[in-house]
Amino acid sequence: MSRLFARVSLARRHQILTLLVAAAAIAFPLVHDNDADVDSAANAAAYATLALGLNIVVGFAGLLDLGYAAFFAIGAYAYGILTSFQVMPHWGPLWEPFAWLQLVQRVPQPGGDLVRFTVSFWIMLPVSALIAAGFGVLFGAPTLRLRGDYLAIVTLGFGEIVPIVVRNVDSVTNGAAGLNGIQAPRLFGHSFGVAAWPYYYVAIALVALLIFVSVRLRDSRIGRAWMAIREDETAAAAMGVDRTRTKLLAFAIGAAFAGATGTFYVAKLQTATPEMFGFPVSVMILVMVVLGGMGSVWGVVVGAVLLQLLQSWFLEDISGWIHDLGNAINQPWMQQVDLTQSIELIFGQILVFMMLFRRDGLIPATRKQSSLSVEQQHADVRRGGFVGLEGLGEFAHQGHSGLEVSGVTVRYGGLVALNAIDLSVPVGGVVAVIGPNGSGKSTLFNVITGLTPADGGAIRFDGDGLLGLPPHAILRRGVARTFQNIRLFTNLSVLDNVLIGQHARLKTGPIAAVFRPPSTRREEAAARVWASQILGLFGNRLLPRASQTVSHLSYANRRRVEIARALASRPKILLLDEPTAGMNPAETLELAEQIKSLHALGLTILLIEHKLDVVTRLADKVVVLDHGEKIAEGTPDEVRRNEAVLQAYLGRGTLAKGMVDA
Ligand code: ADP
Ligand code: MG
Repeated sequence: MSRLFARVSLARRHQILTLLVAAAAIAFPLVHDNDADVDSAANAAAYATLALGLNIVVGFAGLLDLGYAAFFAIGAYAYGILTSFQVMPHWGPLWEPFAWLQLVQRVPQPGGDLVRFTVSFWIMLPVSALIAAGFGVLFGAPTLRLRGDYLAIVTLGFGEIVPIVVRNVDSVTNGAAGLNGIQAPRLFGHSFGVAAWPYYYVAIALVALLIFVSVRLRDSRIGRAWMAIREDETAAAAMGVDRTRTKLLAFAIGAAFAGATGTFYVAKLQTATPEMFGFPVSVMILVMVVLGGMGSVWGVVVGAVLLQLLQSWFLEDISGWIHDLGNAINQPWMQQVDLTQSIELIFGQILVFMMLFRRDGLIPATRKQSSLSVEQQHADVRRGGFVGLEGLGEFAHQGHSGLEVSGVTVRYGGLVALNAIDLSVPVGGVVAVIGPNGSGKSTLFNVITGLTPADGGAIRFDGDGLLGLPPHAILRRGVARTFQNIRLFTNLSVLDNVLIGQHARLKTGPIAAVFRPPSTRREEAAARVWASQILGLFGNRLLPRASQTVSHLSYANRRRVEIARALASRPKILLLDEPTAGMNPAETLELAEQIKSLHALGLTILLIEHKLDVVTRLADKVVVLDHGEKIAEGTPDEVRRNEAVLQAYLGRGTLAKGMVDA
């Protein structure tokens, strides 16, 4: 039996499991004829949809949102207001078309007829999602520039503000008393009424839909961009991800899930009060996500269902058992125990336990991987080949007039990191920047790639001014880089890292990601082919490790992945910041050869390098920086003999032996 099981592929096992879960969910109300339990299960499903939405924001994009219940409230009140007797304007002919569309009813009144809103639940489900998404963008736009704790505090604020507003605009929301008389959904002329089962089926359909949407988004260009931002925002921007847009998209989609759930939730309760959407609710949803596993679609569903059922079924049962036990052993204080009252304490304990023992949640988003077998590791190292990579060269040449840096100055407070630097890299050239530590080399790269603003000067590439452009726009123009202190997306696979490198060259948006039309499938397939070709540049160093998480790789392989990621973006110019740092002589030589063949393909290269043999081997021109000043420029040989350079490296008066030997 177990052998049989092992022969079934992982994907097939997932399918079978999904089918079994779906069948069990569909059968539950049929086999378990208890209205209260079915109702609890419907609530659990509603919380699962909330957890799925928050998972997009917190789990995928890594944006800690402590006020998520605000969007739940917005969706709830949108439906509540448009289907209750709360807001009733005077009837006028303008309402006629709406009445015809059955969105409103005319209510005869002695003092003049009134309008009653009767918008259908089925219309409001998507509309509330859109309204909440709109608020997501509204709240997100000013705040998403903040990171980490600051974002958490601001979202906490929004989470508090929404219920306060609801409590205070009595005329629209009926204040603290809450909306009453909210319509139940109707289907084929029948109202859902108060039976639990129709709501249950709507809820599990919603969960199924949102699981589908979540998985499709996760496995797409959009999902990869979210995870890139979660892993390293700066690197994501440098690899072409538009930070603001991508984060807003996560916020808006997460909010949309909550908005639709809000509508469902109040339609089921037929009432809405501000208390239903306070801070404890946001925390509860967050605990569900953490318990299930941040970023894990099925995990957060399981987390939500477990916690919700814990609250509505088990805590009451357990409290009952404690009371019975108290009776039996004659301990009256045990009668007082009511675990449902200490739910927040229990959430806190769950969080602490998860942090201590299982940080990745019950169903972690990434699987533990076995490392490569000994044979795989020792398979002889094939030199990188460039078969099929002519595409890289073709792109490199297109309408390209080199990089021109003129008079660029960067100051950090009193420190002048770059002082009026001029530098030009001709098309197809290899220019090396050398200089002692702290001389401003990396700062030069940061200013070219838009990560550091300049205090003066100009940078032109291909005729366009680069200064003032955001990093992703600079990458789009064909300027890709690596970082001195490797900045990979550590918890993602090698392949995903390289796919993110292509972000700017792909088009798939959120809608195409969900529906996956043929054009999107083709684009994704081509992106994977391109990624494996790029990985093939490094012989079999990376290809066998394509599905491994970057955190499992050796240092040298991480450097290679970073170069591969930059190349994947089809750059015209490649900026390499100390690419051979930390590599042994053999690896250094191998990489130098590979960089040389990139050059042979027509790629323009700007290189920061300490190892002078590498510089001599590769560069046509060397620029020497010291204390933010350019002190020399010329061919490698000229620079080696330059007096100022020798002094900068070895100090005044010292014989420049090391330099000459190198
Ligand atoms: P290099 O790459 O040549 O070793 P850097 O460009 O990293 O040098 O740094 C140049 C100078 O600028 C150093 O003195 C460094 O301390 C300073 N510096 C770099 N980044 C920052 C920053 N973000 N804030 C303040 N000072 C910085
Ligand atoms: Mg540096």
